[in-house]
Amino acid sequence: MTLDELTAQREQAAADYDALVRRGLKLDLTRGKPSPRQLDLADGMNGLPSTHLAADGTDIRNYGNLQGLAEVRELFAEQLQVPAAQLVAGGNSSLAMMHDSIVFSLLSVLPGASRRWVEEDEIVFLCPVPGYDRHFALCERFGITMIQVPLTGDGPDMDVVERLVAEDPRIKGIWCVPKYSNPSGVTYSDETVRRLASMSTAAPDFRIFWDNAYAVHHLTDTHTELADLLALCEEHGNADRAFVYGSTSKVSLAGSGVAFFGSSPANVAWYLGNLSKQSIGPDKVNQLRHVEFLRDAEGLAAHMRRHAELVWPKFETVDRILTKELGGTGLASWSAPTGGYFISLDVPEGCAREVVAKAKAAGIALTPAGATHPYGDDPADRTIRIAPTYPDLGELEEAITGLAVCVRLVATEKLLSQA
Ligand code: PMP
Repeated sequence: MTLDELTAQREQAAADYDALVRRGLKLDLTRGKPSPRQLDLADGMNGLPSTHLAADGTDIRNYGNLQGLAEVRELFAEQLQVPAAQLVAGGNSSLAMMHDSIVFSLLSVLPGASRRWVEEDEIVFLCPVPGYDRHFALCERFGITMIQVPLTGDGPDMDVVERLVAEDPRIKGIWCVPKYSNPSGVTYSDETVRRLASMSTAAPDFRIFWDNAYAVHHLTDTHTELADLLALCEEHGNADRAFVYGSTSKVSLAGSGVAFFGSSPANVAWYLGNLSKQSIGPDKVNQLRHVEFLRDAEGLAAHMRRHAELVWPKFETVDRILTKELGGTGLASWSAPTGGYFISLDVPEGCAREVVAKAKAAGIALTPAGATHPYGDDPADRTIRIAPTYPDLGELEEAITGLAVCVRLVATEKLLSQA
């Protein structure tokens, strides 16, 4: 672009931005929440379960069964790639199970560890970026140092991961959203999963926090497959390395789903030992109504197709508008995932915060820039997370069109300042 062309673009963007602000929008793209229509898909759960007896004859209304109903564990075993006997079905939040896994690791000796994590001088986790802000918030909460690792199209940069974990015994964990990742939509390649399972770690109690939140959240008929981390860890002599998490938050009801923790038999025994001090048993009534409603793998897949019918047009809308408004300008690039809940938008270095601020001033709320990185600090100030599921299509179209105006304005101003 010549200087004149750039100046003309900036003038146009400034005029478009003024018009945008005058519209007085009030739109929210901040969090990956299911839309009310998606939640309506679970209306069939109302009135269930039809019985208070579990398959083993126990009364689900009463205390007990800390590991959770066998039938709900069997229903999700295949999708989460954890044998039902090694799954724990808990309350409504997998994030709570991740939180507890960290607290338990701090306060009780993990299988393979010589002491509790609180007794270590420093605990470090690797954080592939861009990543999920609540993982990073958990680390901050417990004083765990975070080291960024770049996320490639195949998952974390494994050359970096292998080098760091091999030499540094303070590194006890890595956060992974291995399928349709939050926010990039990346699914880890088979080779990445194999390297994670087989790599040498200086810490004997190193754990992979495998947050498979989007295991069944395909948006097209092309289903991305993920290698089986737990089986590979066992195969490579690292059976206790994987902590697997998942939930039905974006399958049934985000506030009333069922969450899962899965791992090796030794880790599950350790986890349940800790959990037994916290609870007498989970909400098995909710677990059974999920089983009656979703029935089996086919029922679950059919239900997820109904979600995809509502969600996929939103992903297409974002891609269509960004292509129309920003395609070929060199001012932005974005992911086009075929599953999950998020799209990540990359703007020129040093522009993300300003784009989000400009959008906010125009009534379009976005996840804060930097949230995709530990300590809320994206060193390149480049990545913006788009969460398209909650607004309806009309609102989404307005919000993304407005966002594109903000990108054009901030990016052309930046380029002019450098010209
Ligand atoms: N993990 C990831 C990667 C997520 O994106 C989310 C929700 N945004 C969660 C966990 C939260 O899961 P839950 O509702 O089971 O606590």
